[in-house]
Amino acid sequence: MILEIVLEILSPTIITERRSLRGFLKTLDYIPASTLRGAILSELYRNGIVGDDFLKSEREKPSVIASYAYPVTSGGEKCYPSHPFMYKCKVCGQYENYLGKIIEELERDEKLKELTDITCRNGHMALENLYSKHYPSEAGKVPASRFICTGVNKRRGSSETGMLYEYEAITPGRKFWTTLAIPDKIEKYIDGLEIRIGRGISRGFGISKIIKSKVISLREVAMRIEEALTHDRYLVLFGSSPLVSCHEKFYTPYPSEIDLSNIAAISALGEKGKLVIKTVYGKADFHIGGWDMHRNAEKVPVKFATRPGAIVVAEYDGTPSALAALSLLGTVERLGDTLITGVNMLHPARSHPIFTLGGK
Ligand SMILES: [Zn+2]
Repeated sequence: MILEIVLEILSPTIITERRSLRGFLKTLDYIPASTLRGAILSELYRNGIVGDDFLKSEREKPSVIASYAYPVTSGGEKCYPSHPFMYKCKVCGQYENYLGKIIEELERDEKLKELTDITCRNGHMALENLYSKHYPSEAGKVPASRFICTGVNKRRGSSETGMLYEYEAITPGRKFWTTLAIPDKIEKYIDGLEIRIGRGISRGFGISKIIKSKVISLREVAMRIEEALTHDRYLVLFGSSPLVSCHEKFYTPYPSEIDLSNIAAISALGEKGKLVIKTVYGKADFHIGGWDMHRNAEKVPVKFATRPGAIVVAEYDGTPSALAALSLLGTVERLGDTLITGVNMLHPARSHPIFTLGGK
């Protein structure tokens, strides 16, 4: 079954990507899918709800799949990564969402003629591209707290001099939303579950609680998608997750083809579909980590995935239900011994809330 859950941060949470030269770590404003999946599996294991066999089979054939978790605003609105055709006016602050103006051209011709004369509705031409930034945004309104931690030598159990790290942390009270696929028998343990995310969990950092959980009906999602399927030759999709395609030893920033009958949960439903990707509007500079369950740590094997929010033009042959499942489950990728989940979650743009967000 697939749930939409809301997570509340209970103690300062440090989710980082790269260390700057000065040792300062800026925190991410989202929770990576594999981090979240690892945290939920660890907690279910710690509570004795699942055993070693379950964790072992999860490495082979994942049944627990989380999406990237994005913020919920203080007003209770879900945030999404902006696509490359969303702008903010630097003069009057107006948001402009150009997808509605160009989607017919993409559906017909796959490639876009150059976008010219983009202005805000008040005629200003100084626009900032918002690609990958969250919309709606609370940038500047939400403070992050800073912490200085001393590196601890694990072997000697003592503090090492000269290993001072300054961290930025997500402050308690902030909320994130995510979708979570989970076996039916585990569902009753999800609502209210406390999980630990990120760095410093042995020192009390990173405690979160699942405070809301509702079931998503695959049938309803499929019905909305069906209406979006019949517009023209090509289908325009929105990537709510990063995109990447792994081939054991190497990877490409996005898949050229997705055979939906290979996705375990979809083949179980007997649905079929094939997506052939023609054009991707996005940027390939996104880092994806895999969760190493043995070391309880994130590793970052992918440095050039396509950033969340990309717009994809594709040919689709298959059922609406298979596409609904792809939008909520994504694909499972393997790079060497690293399992990557929560990627390639593609939604037909016309049936996604981002299509009309921020004005037309
Ligand atoms: Zn303006």
